[in-house]
Amino acid sequence: MNELMKLIDKLELQGSLTYEEYVMLLSNNSQELRDYAALKAVSIKEKYYSNKVFVRGLIEFSNYCKNDCYYCGIRNGNHNCDRYRLSQDEIFECCRQGYDFGYRTFVFQSGEDPYYSDERICNIVSSIKSEYPDVAITLSIGEKSIDSYKAFKKAGADRYLLRHETCNEDHYSKLHPQNMSGTNRKQCLNNLKSLGFQVGAGIMVGSPYQTKENIAEDLIFLKELNPHMVGIGPFISHKDTPFADMPNGTLEDTLLLLSLIRIMLPDVLLPSTTALGTINPRGREMGLMAGANVVMPNLSPVKVRQKYSLYDNKICTGEEAAECVDCLKKRVELTGNIIVTDRGDSPRK
Ligand code: SAH
Repeated sequence: MNELMKLIDKLELQGSLTYEEYVMLLSNNSQELRDYAALKAVSIKEKYYSNKVFVRGLIEFSNYCKNDCYYCGIRNGNHNCDRYRLSQDEIFECCRQGYDFGYRTFVFQSGEDPYYSDERICNIVSSIKSEYPDVAITLSIGEKSIDSYKAFKKAGADRYLLRHETCNEDHYSKLHPQNMSGTNRKQCLNNLKSLGFQVGAGIMVGSPYQTKENIAEDLIFLKELNPHMVGIGPFISHKDTPFADMPNGTLEDTLLLLSLIRIMLPDVLLPSTTALGTINPRGREMGLMAGANVVMPNLSPVKVRQKYSLYDNKICTGEEAAECVDCLKKRVELTGNIIVTDRGDSPRK
């Protein structure tokens, strides 16, 4: 057994590694290392979740955004972006469909759209909850004040996804305009946690200017934050952003990281993302075989799918929801797993 595999064993035993050890693993990514890490990651995943995969029906309800993140296709500065908002009725219709498919978690995601005041968000959340009391609601609508988060919680939101993107301030400032700060984003995550949300943090793998050292810091940050969920996927360039010509993140780095995160945070909810399925046709299956245990099929109406374009060539923008459900079910089963009808809460609570 080589040095690197011993580090994987150590990660499993102790739940963490040093900064230098993470850098060493990340700098020596190979098929052999990935296979070794995936073997461990999958057996840990099976211990907590057996062969179950949880589904989150994703509803992208607005692509208006006041922010100007350099990597993102729906950034405010992109004047080629065809903007839309779903009405409350349309959002309801997506949920109705998802509920009929057996989905018991809905993720409402959008740009940071001021039209959706706290009151509007709370209305949407509480009306869905009163219609479907057995579903979990996840919000993914960006940085808000603690009072807003409090109101969302009171309205019935259960979970919140807010990727920290990078925990290194210098790197953060290369990905975002000056009016945004990594410190505030991390503060938001702490606020959400303190309010009792199940929280999800995460990064884009291979984002512009990201170093292996940055990722090592992110792993240390994630261990400390100990979120219920971690969302990671490869960075993929979007033609109408300042990062149009930047290289995409790789499948290999994303797969290794998924396994490392599973080993480091054994019971974490870990999606195999659409971005992973976009850089490789079998990316999502490979993600599951690297230790992921969640998939997030798109429930947005087909007429808006193309418009929620965070990056180029996003998959699943043409199919009706029912087709996606079928296709995803088959993909999950090919990996020896099954999709379950369950809220899929964190076993940790
Ligand atoms: N406005 C919400 C939702 C953002 S979109 C928020 O601020 O949290 C969800 C995630 O998509 C982002 O957190 C980011 O990590 C990812 N993303 C954005 N642009 C991307 C790109 N070009 N490639 C890959 N992932 C991207």
